[in-house]
Amino acid sequence: MAFRFVIYKILSVIMTFRLRCYICDDPFRMNMLVRLNDEEKINISKRRRAQLENPEQEVNNHSRLCLNCNTSILQEIEAYQADDDPTVLRVLFRNGARSCFVCFAEDNINQVTLKVRVNVFVKANIFIPPHFRLCNDHLDSNGYLLQHLHSGLQAIEIPYNLKGTELTNFLGCLREEYNRLWIDSEENFSDDDFLALTSLNKVQFRDLFNHCNPVQISGNLRYIEKKDLILFMCKLRQGLSDQFLKAMFNYSSRQSVSITIVKVTFLDRNIVPLNLGYGHITREEYINNHIDDFYNILYNETPENRKAISVIDATYIKI
Ligand SMILES: [Zn+2]
Ligand SMILES: [Zn+2]
Repeated sequence: MAFRFVIYKILSVIMTFRLRCYICDDPFRMNMLVRLNDEEKINISKRRRAQLENPEQEVNNHSRLCLNCNTSILQEIEAYQADDDPTVLRVLFRNGARSCFVCFAEDNINQVTLKVRVNVFVKANIFIPPHFRLCNDHLDSNGYLLQHLHSGLQAIEIPYNLKGTELTNFLGCLREEYNRLWIDSEENFSDDDFLALTSLNKVQFRDLFNHCNPVQISGNLRYIEKKDLILFMCKLRQGLSDQFLKAMFNYSSRQSVSITIVKVTFLDRNIVPLNLGYGHITREEYINNHIDDFYNILYNETPENRKAISVIDATYIKI
C-alpha cells in the first residue's frame, strides 16, 4: 500500500513538473509535450526558435515541443511534401488564439479586422490569420493597431495557404491601403516627425482640425481633410513649393495643391474670429478672466466697480 502511494506521489510530481517548449519557450506539463528527436523537426525547430529571437539552445534528450508547435511543424512538413514551393509568409506567432494577441486578455476581445491585418502586413511584414483576436483598446482612432505595438509582435516563416476568398479580400483591402496615403493622418507619424513637419503636436493638430468645418468658397461648401491640413501646415512650416508638395502628398496636379491651400486659407473665417479681434471676447469675459484684483486696485479708482484695464506697449490707458 505504502509502495503504491509512493509511486502515485512520484507520478503526480512528474505530471506537474513543467518543461519549456524548445520553440516557443512556454512552460508545459510533461504530458503536453512531445520529444524532439527527428532530424527534420529539429532543423525546423532551430529555425523557428531563432526567428522568435529566443536564446540559442542545443537540442538534447530533454528537448521537447508543445503540442501546438509540434502540430505546426508537422503541417509545414506536409505542406512541403504536397508542394515543393508553397507560399511562405511571416505569420504572427501566438500560442492560443482565444485571447488577445497583444495582452492575452480573454474578455471584451473581437476577431481581428481585415483592415488591421493588412495594415500590420504592410507596416511590419507580419501576416495575422483571420481567427486571431484583439482588444479594442489597442486600436487608434482610425481603427489600426497602435503603431508602437507592432514591434512587440513575433512571427515565424511558415507555409500559409492564402487562397480563394481570403486572398481576394486581402488583396482588395491591400489595394485600398495603398491608395490611402500614409500622410493622411497624424496617427501615421511619430510625435517628433509630426512636430518637425507641421510645427504642431498631435493634440494641437486635432484641436485645429476640429475647427475645420466646411468652408464656403464661391457659394460651394468644401470639406477639409486631415491630409489637406497637414499639407497646409507643411507649406507654412517648410515653405515647400506646390510642385514638391504635389509629389510628396501624391496630389493629381500642382493646381490641386493650390486649390487645397486656398481652401484651407478660407479657414481664417472660422478660426481667426475665435481667437482675435473684438468679436472673440465680451467686455464682461475680459474683466472676469483677465483683470486680477491687484491691477483692479492699482489702476481702478473705484475698485468696487470693476473695469476693463489694458496695458498696451507699457502705456496705461483707461477704456
Ligand atoms: Zn511551443
Ligand atoms: Zn489586448
